[in-house]
This record gives sequence, structure tokens and C-alpha cells, in this order.
Amino acid sequence: MFGAREDEGAAPPAPLTFSDPTYVRELEGLFVPWTAEPAPDPRLLVLEDNVARDVGADAEALRTPAGIAALLGEGVEGTVAQGYAGHQFGAFSPRLGDGRALLLGEVLDRDGRRRDLHLKGSGRTPFARGGDGKAPVGPMLREHVISEAMHALGIPTTRALAVIATGETVYREVPLPGAVLVRVADSHLRVGTFEYVAKTLRDGELLGRLLDYAIARHHPHAADAEISALAFFDAVVAAQAELLARWMLVGFVHGVMNTDNMTISGETIDYGPCAFMERYDPATVFSSIDHGGRYAYGRQPLIAQWNLARLAEALLPLIGADAPEVAAEKATAILDTFPARFGEHWTAGVHAKLGLTAGVGEDEALVDDLLGLLHDEEVDWTLAFRALASTARGDTTAFAGLARDPAATTGWVQRWLACSPNPDVMDAVNPVVIPRNEAVEDALAHATAGDLGPYERLVDAVRRPFATDAAPAYTQPAERDAGDYVTYCGT
Ligand code: AMP
Ligand code: MG
Repeated sequence: MFGAREDEGAAPPAPLTFSDPTYVRELEGLFVPWTAEPAPDPRLLVLEDNVARDVGADAEALRTPAGIAALLGEGVEGTVAQGYAGHQFGAFSPRLGDGRALLLGEVLDRDGRRRDLHLKGSGRTPFARGGDGKAPVGPMLREHVISEAMHALGIPTTRALAVIATGETVYREVPLPGAVLVRVADSHLRVGTFEYVAKTLRDGELLGRLLDYAIARHHPHAADAEISALAFFDAVVAAQAELLARWMLVGFVHGVMNTDNMTISGETIDYGPCAFMERYDPATVFSSIDHGGRYAYGRQPLIAQWNLARLAEALLPLIGADAPEVAAEKATAILDTFPARFGEHWTAGVHAKLGLTAGVGEDEALVDDLLGLLHDEEVDWTLAFRALASTARGDTTAFAGLARDPAATTGWVQRWLACSPNPDVMDAVNPVVIPRNEAVEDALAHATAGDLGPYERLVDAVRRPFATDAAPAYTQPAERDAGDYVTYCGT
């Protein structure tokens, strides 16, 4: 920083270069101009160099006090709180919006793709209801580490550019250090954004503008369709069907699949009480607020389709205002494709996980029977597939050893071996490292107490999901019953 530089004497590079603010320019009525609260004593906890590079920012410049100030929105013009509604646990909330978040601005990434920069935990906005507008360090770091893991696993997700401790204390029953997350996303258009315009504002003109904007930004081919709203809906259904399959294949449990937490782009967004399933059980729930198990692991595809039905309802006037019944029929026909589209991705993915390049042959029940076996025998989802690869290579005890009753696995393993699995195919898709719950909790507890060491080691580990030399803390389930694990919304 103090060394001679080629550009010495010239003005320092701007830490962030924003593009033209298309959301603000085109979607008047969907935001409130608002500025972030200043942080009394900001300290950079995380800066993702590769994300900075992606969005054309100068990582070194972002590490300076001026860079950190820019990341926190200081002196940034045109920041806004975005409006949206949402179905939360099935009930409609007409006005949610960015209660503690702001759209910092838009950037063009290295590929020329438009991305949002967004702040979370930057203070109360006019959309805030009860909350304080703040966020504790733990949940913001959780969003960073889980989204890094998802990205490393090749799953579409928002990323964290930075996490900045604010120097402020926030209260969540106990005093906690506060933080702001700087998030990068394809956009922050949600199913709930469409619901807000259609159901809350009931503004047909704005709904049309929102559709045009969302099509141009995410699904441009829909613009050429006879009914662009329908083609757009089809594209969102396709993106979500694939996303959900990818979540299910790695055992990801989002935790709060409200319609305001589901994107139009097909990126995973809003990591709250999320976690990776360890022992296989479709009823796995981690969120302390999900009492009925609405958002359990095994229910996620169903819920995604339910959410997409809410998107269809919001789009109906654009699909056919004069003949609502015909419009509903057309939308329903597309909605009904969700299970098959999800199923295609899921089946292809499970077959790859099992090394079955030629499918299951005659043995159509092979996958379902495996799921039953994993459930009955309380087998760790991630370990199971790595162990099966070892078994395919001749280590007969590798998979059996994970079961409560090793003998219970014999019949299924023989059926599977008869399909000639390729263990190299398996190892290429089955992760070794996932952010395991105990390691995450331990790292967040240390980080909250001021020691970032365990957290940084965890992040390094989840960045290399296929590394076979990772420490046991990142590759082995905790001793205790995984059913005891609970994550909190951390608002
Ligand atoms: P989330 O659970 O983070 O998806 O947030 C759901 C809604 O609650 C959004 O409208 C948030 O802006 C709002 N919200 C969550 N936490 C807070 C908070 N601490 N202060 C104000 N609003 C919040
Ligand atoms: Mg949310």
C-alpha cells in the first residue's frame, strides 16, 4: 500500500465502479431512496478477492478505509430499499421489502453481465416493521460461508463480496457484534417482487414494466415469444426446477423458502437458518421457526412448485387479461411441468452420484430403495456416495460400515454393482467436504468472540469440496445426534 506504484501521482483507483442504475431508472414505484447508517468502527472481516475481481473492483483499494467506506455505502449516490411482498410459511405478507437492506448499485462483471451489489444489516429502512435494521456477525458470516460452499459445488448462488464488522452492538436476547454483508447477485428480483406489484400495489402498468425488466435481465429469449409472460414463467420454472434438484443432490436445506426468498434468476438467495443434511432423512428441518416442518429437506421441491404457483397468479393479468380462465389454464400447464423437469435433473444427478452412466437398466427401484436404506440405516448423505465409490473399487466394508446394521446393505449393494458403476464418475460429482453443522457452529462462535482462525480454515475447506486431504472436522459427521441441530433466523 505504501510502496511505489506505477500510477504514483495519479488519483487512486475508485474502489467500486458502478454501472447505470437500471432498477432505479426503470422501476419507479418499486423502491424508496434510502441511505445506509454509518458504522461507528468498521473492520473488514471478509473480502473475497475473486468476487471483487469478478465485479471489476480493485480488491486492494477495497481494503483501504476509503474502500471499506464505499462498501458500506458511504458517499454512494442512488442507494435504495427495494419493495417486495411474500408468502411467509404460507401466509401472505403484503409489504416486506428491504427492512434492513439496500441496493447499493449495479455493476457489470467481467463477462459484461449485470450484477447487483446489495447491503444487508445496514440499518432500518421505511420497509422495516419490528426489526432494528441490523445484523449480527454470526449470521452474516454464515451467509458468506454457505454461499461459498454452494458456489464451490457449482450451484447457482448469490455471493458475498465482503463482511464488515460495524463496531456496533446488536441485541438478540444477548449483545452481539454487528456486521454488514455486501452481497453480489444476478438481481434481487424475487417471486415476492411480482406479488408486491400484482397483489399489494395492484398496478398493472408497473407489473408490465417489471416483467419487461425481468425478461431483459434474466430470460431475454422470452421477449420473442407470442405471450412473453408465459415464456418468462416457463423460464423461471425451468431455472428453479434445476436449482432445486441441485440443492437436493448435495443435501442442502434452505430453511425459509418463503416466496420473498426465491429468485427469478434461479440463484439461491437469503441464507438464514440453512444447513446441509448429514444423516439422510427427508424430514430434516434445521430452522428453529419451522415448527411444522413445512420447509423440511424432502418437501423443498413441492414448496418450490407452490411458490411458483404464486408467481403464476401474479403474472395472470399479463398472460391474458381478457380471458382469466384461459390464462390460468396456460399457466397451470407450465406449472405442472415442474415435477417432471425437477425429476429429470434429480435422476440424472443421482445416477451420476451412483456412477451409473447407462442408467439403472431394469432395476427401476434402485434409487428409491437406496433412499429407504439410507434412511433406515441412518447413513450420512455425503459420506454414503464417497463410500460407495470405494465399494465399487472393491472395498466391501466402506459403505456397509456406515450403516447401523452393515448386513442390511448387502442386497442393495449387489443390485447396484450389477449395474457396473464407474467410481471415477462418482468421485467427480460427490463432494468430500460440505459445511458440516458442528464445524460451522464452532467457527461462528469463535468469530463472534473475535477469533477468525477457525472460520478462515472452514472457508478454505469448503472452497475445495472434492479435496480428499481435508481435516476430519469438515468430512465427518458430529458424534451427537444430528436431529439436535437447530439454526436460528439470526435476524
Ligand atoms: P429474511 O428473513 O432476512 O428473509 O427477512 C424477511 C423480512 O424481514 C424482510 O423484509 C427483511 O427486511 C425483514 N427483516 C429481517 N430482519 C430484520 C431486522 N433486523 N430489521 C428490520 N427488518 C428485518
Ligand atoms: Mg429474505
